Order: sequence, then C-alpha cells, then structure tokens
Amino acid sequence: MQKKQNNTGLIWFRNNLRTEDNASLKKAVENCNKVIAVYCFDPKLFRIDEFGFQKTAKFRAQFLIETIADLKQNLANLNVTLLTYFENPENSIYKICDTYSVHTIYTQTEWTEEETTTNNLIKATLAENINFIEDYDQFLYHPDSISKDFTKIPDVFTIFRKKLEKTVKIEKEFSVSKLLKENLIKNDTSIPTLKELGFESFETNVKSAFPFSGGENAAQERLNDYTFKTKKVAFYKKTRNGLVGVDYSTKFSPWLANGSLSAKTIYWKIKEYEAEYGANQSTYWVIFELIWRDYFKYISLKHHSKIFKIGGILEKKYQWNTDKQLIQQWVHGNTKDDFVNANMIELKETGWMSNRGRQNVASYFAKELLLDWRIGAAYFESLLLDYDVHSNYGNWMYVAGVGNDPRDRKFNTQLQADRYDGGHRFRKLWLEKTLF
Ligand code: FAD
Repeated sequence: MQKKQNNTGLIWFRNNLRTEDNASLKKAVENCNKVIAVYCFDPKLFRIDEFGFQKTAKFRAQFLIETIADLKQNLANLNVTLLTYFENPENSIYKICDTYSVHTIYTQTEWTEEETTTNNLIKATLAENINFIEDYDQFLYHPDSISKDFTKIPDVFTIFRKKLEKTVKIEKEFSVSKLLKENLIKNDTSIPTLKELGFESFETNVKSAFPFSGGENAAQERLNDYTFKTKKVAFYKKTRNGLVGVDYSTKFSPWLANGSLSAKTIYWKIKEYEAEYGANQSTYWVIFELIWRDYFKYISLKHHSKIFKIGGILEKKYQWNTDKQLIQQWVHGNTKDDFVNANMIELKETGWMSNRGRQNVASYFAKELLLDWRIGAAYFESLLLDYDVHSNYGNWMYVAGVGNDPRDRKFNTQLQADRYDGGHRFRKLWLEKTLF
C-alpha cells in the first residue's frame, strides 16, 4: 500500500460519473489524505451549435441531473463531498484549488477538440505546482495494453477485434473503501434544476423504450435485471434488432456514455452470468458490441478531428446537400418514408432510437437525401440520451461512407421496414394519431 501524502486531491468528474470502477477516485483515495470532488454543468454543453441545434437538449439534460444527484449521494456514502456548479470548469476549478489548497487534480482523459480546449483553459488558470492526472477510464480494453501509437489502429473493425480478443485480458474492476467522516467539507453548492439549465419540465413519454433514470444505481439495477434477474442476456443476439419495448437490447448506452456504468463492470457481470448459467452466442455478442464501442474510441484517437470533418477519415470529396426543408422534414419525421418518420418521431419524443432505426435514418439522410452527414450527427448529438462523441461521429461516418465501412452500404429503408417491422407495430406506435 502506497503511503498517503499530506495533500488534497480534487476529482474533477467528467464522463466518468460513478463511484465503482473509477480510476480517478481510486487514485485520489490512495494518494491523498483529503479528497474532494467537483462536477461542472458546463454552459458550453447547452449552447447552440453551428447547425442551429442545442448541443444538449432536454432529455440528456434531465438524465444528467439525475446522474449527478445519484453520484453526489454515492460519494457522500464514501464521505466524499461533491461540489456542483453551473459554470465553466475553467472558471470554477482554480477557485476550488485555491480555497482547499488542492495539490493534485484527478480526471478522465478526454481527447476530442472541445474537451482538450477546456483542459488547456483550466491548466492555464492553475498554479504550476498542481498536478493534473488523467486516466483513460472509458474503455473495455485499456489503451495501455493496446498501443503506444494509435496511428497503427487498423481501419477495419474485424482485424482490430480479433487481435484484441486473442491477446489482451480485460482488467479487473476496482472499488474504494469509505473515508473517515472528517473528509467531508461544508457544501453550499447545489445541483441546477432543469429550469435553471433553461428547459421546461416534461414527463417521460409512456411509449419510451428507455423509461429509466440516470445514475449509477439505476445502471446497476438495469445490469442486474438484464442478466441475472430476467436472463434476457441469453437471447440478446436474437432480439437486438428490435424496435419496440424495453428489452430487445441492453439499453446500457446512456449510462455508458456519461460513465455512470463502466464497460468493464458489464464485462465481468456477463462473465459471472456465464459461469453460473453458461455462455452462448448472445452473452458473447453483448461483449462484441462493447468492442465496437471501444473501436470508435480508438478510431477517434487515431484520426483526431478528422472525425468531425465533412470528408471523414477517408477524406472523401462527395457533394453534400444542405437543403433546409429536407433537413426539417427528416428532423420532424415528415419525409416520404414512413419507417424513417417513425424512428425520427421516436427520437424527438423520447431521446431514444434503436440501433436498427439509427442505421436506417442516417443512411436515408446521407445516402438518399444526400444531406451533409455532420448535420444529422449534430441533431443526434442534441437529442440522444446516450450521445457519445466517438460512437456518434464514428457511426455517422460509417453509414455516410466516409468512415470504417469497407463495403460502403446503403440501406433500403422499405426492405428494412418489411424485415424488422413487418407487422407495422413500430410504425403504428409512433405514427398513429390517437386522441388520448
Ligand atoms: P446494445 O445493442 O444492447 O449494445 C450493447 C452496447 O454495445 C451498447 O450500449 C453500446 O455501448 C455498444 N454498441 C452497440 N452497438 C454499437 C455501435 N454500432 N457503435 C458503438 N457502440 C455500440 N451509441 C452510443 O452509445 N452513442 C451514440 O451517440 C451513438 N450514435 C449512433 C449514431 C448512429 C448513426 C448509429 C448507426 C449508431 C449510434 N450508436 C451510438 C450505436 C448504437 O446505435 C447504440 O450504442 C445502441 O443502439 C444503444 O442501445 P443499447 O445500449 O441497447 O445497445
């Protein structure tokens, strides 16, 4: 056991909003004799983007508030105080460092443009003797065991996956023990309300396929439900292309995206399940999909801001359209295609869309309407409960033909509708007008 220094550690929570399997929390607890935590609701996350969409719309805002409330309670259970601000971190963090004589800041590594800008702004405000310790804490396969040179990451998923599965072991999860009560500090801060973030309150749509709350506790409950309680995980591969209801897929993504659930935790839970009830193609396939999630993170580490450029990582020079009317028709589920419309209405009403739906509406946007795929991606960024920069831009590039799809496929949305919604159950759910 490492000897604790006489110092104060500040955990700056970003998309690692959990107390279980959290590297920053672990390091702070192990190395500091006083630990405090902060989360900033950064106003930049709520601004209007270059395409006219609010970067975070009401669904993810509400989910984030719930997540932070849960995190605050879970940290309190460990005798760690979470300070919360509705302010840029570059304006809050240096003040906390001054007030509490912080010696080291612990946080999750982020590498995309906006996040590194924020990092640099913060570092510019800090005294030189404050350490800044970052950890890649959002992966299933930790970058340390993958590559020191991300330019070598293969641009074809299967090559990447097979190599990983053959050679790399998934690390164990870690927990921390409770600190002494004296670690708590006086806390005058509060979590902003939805109204304070600029939104009207709203009820979750009763038809939502994602009726869950934000936060680590809700995530753990869903994980237990999907595995040990209902054993749905044993049928995942058969149901994963579904469109209606809560259980056709895991629904882990919103918690994974803001880090209230770690990919490692899911992995080890599935291993536990397999040890008790046996492994099958479905239990494996959840892990297979988590490798896709990792893959898009590695692609973004490899290609940096190319993932936001119109030509994508392939630097394609396609002619893209920006017709405002076509974009609005797509956004509001008013296109000529009823399957696309049903999916877009689901997104607008709930902040959720299935993977099958996302592939179809994105393909329709980029390959049928030939609209600038970045506008579609920006709309998803605004609305999705599970928005994750790497998964979103990686998948959009893939579908738009400027990314990692070696076959550059176009979806035939009507054939897809026949195949996955033959009985019109999904389309009826979102397109039929009812009085009550
Ligand atoms: P499951 O089918 O249960 O899969 C389990 C987990 O595997 C998911 O939670 C997710 O973490 C991961 N996963 C599954 N499919 C993919 C995939 N194609 N790419 C990366 N990870 C995957 N996913 C996001 O998390 N955030 C996004 O912003 C996002 N944007 C997308 C945009 C487009 C155009 C498309 C086609 C897909 C996008 N996805 C995104 C991927 C995928 O649609 C969602 O992860 C999935 O639908 C979430 O539902 P689930 O948790 O029930 O997934």
